[in-house]
Amino acid sequence: EPHAQGQGLGSAILRALVAEASGLPVHLEVLKQSPAARLYERVGFVRAAEQDYDWLYVLPALPETTRPMPALAERLKDVTVSPIVAMSSRARVLKAEGKDVISLAVGEPDFPTPPHAVEAAHQAALAGDTKYPAQDGGVPLKKAIQAKFKRENNLDYALDEICVCNGGKQVLMNALLATVSPGDEVLIPVPYWASYGEMVKLAGGTPTFVNCPQNNGFKLRPEDLEAAITPRTKMLMLNFPNNPTGAACSREEMQAIADVMLRHPDVWVLTDDMYEHLVFDGFGFCTIAEVEPRLKDRVITVNGVSKTYAMTGWRLGYAGGPKALIKAMVNMQGQVTSGVSTISQAAAVAALTGPQELVRERAEVYRARRDLVVELLNQAPGLTCAKPEGAFYVYPNVAGCLGKTTAGGRRIETDADFALALLEEKLVATVHGAAYGMSPYLRISYATDTASLREACARIRDFCGSLS
Ligand code: PMP
Repeated sequence: EPHAQGQGLGSAILRALVAEASGLPVHLEVLKQSPAARLYERVGFVRAAEQDYDWLYVLPALPETTRPMPALAERLKDVTVSPIVAMSSRARVLKAEGKDVISLAVGEPDFPTPPHAVEAAHQAALAGDTKYPAQDGGVPLKKAIQAKFKRENNLDYALDEICVCNGGKQVLMNALLATVSPGDEVLIPVPYWASYGEMVKLAGGTPTFVNCPQNNGFKLRPEDLEAAITPRTKMLMLNFPNNPTGAACSREEMQAIADVMLRHPDVWVLTDDMYEHLVFDGFGFCTIAEVEPRLKDRVITVNGVSKTYAMTGWRLGYAGGPKALIKAMVNMQGQVTSGVSTISQAAAVAALTGPQELVRERAEVYRARRDLVVELLNQAPGLTCAKPEGAFYVYPNVAGCLGKTTAGGRRIETDADFALALLEEKLVATVHGAAYGMSPYLRISYATDTASLREACARIRDFCGSLS
């Protein structure tokens, strides 16, 4: 990418990290602005950031002998690798160098999978439950999901209105592939989980956005939603409790969203309820098909075991929705990945039908961490942090830190500059708000132990305090 110049060193380096994370070898070619002082040098990211170069060129480092390969598919043209992956891989490099990095960048519970789920998987494997799975999910699991929807969401789904996919991610991708045609718009509230827009593009659609600014509590206001819907809008994607802000909608707020959608009968509503069980202080989670039953025949309710049961590695997500849509998703999945691992299905049955106290106990641990992190972050000069209703993220505003210089001499013009400098100078990995479509913020995941959170917040305070 030879034109990173003028966009700030931070964003250029981040793009290099993105390229590196996607498996491309990266060559950083750094030039002094004056042609006479031209300097061709291979540099590491740290050195590039530490020295005050005028331009930074980021080029793929192809060996001389490499022939250009045949072109990649057109559909990949606009699809990017997640900057979250980029920050995490940079943090990993620093860790591998022996540095004491604290990562608050990854959205993954730090708890283990409940032992009874692991045991069920073990038994399934021993019992020979190791053949090809049913493409839509085994009957025991679909019954467990059906009971979950009834018990926790008061939703009635028949077994042929439920499907099981390889993670919540595949549910989302299947749903988009099954509904979106070229030119269709998919409406995404901002800030958003970074994969939504990329998935929409992969499905051939156009992501369109509606802002949910901090002064609305990062929630979707009905008037903003109404204004964002066009004749091309095919789907609205909802995600409350939200990644990255932690904002969740009350029943009234959800009803107001539903009222708008009732006026637009040609639009699907996908709700990503991954963080359903991570709501605090007695906040009542609600999902749109339950709040407005008249929408149910065009709502797809997405959930999974990753966050609720600390089962990110088992790759199991599921959905309830209208029969014809579920059938389309299953048929497509059958051609691509087949059903979900039988072993993971056995674990998910145990998780969904076993004791649920663990879920509440862990939510209480997250609540205590949220309170701690919000309190400590608000002590950092220039940074303000709202207290969200749920998930395991906070989304502090760093506007008060922009335009300043770090102790290490880095200029902070954007949230990306902030996140990168914080990682390099204080060894705390976070993700910049731009990755989620709203700046200037940081996403901080507090799904880690209290001692690390205290230490990380102290480093962030020191970092902000040393800006001048
Ligand atoms: N939706 C949201 C909002 C998420 O944050 C995540 C995980 N980061 C997912 C979906 C994907 O979950 P899974 O592990 O089930 O693919």
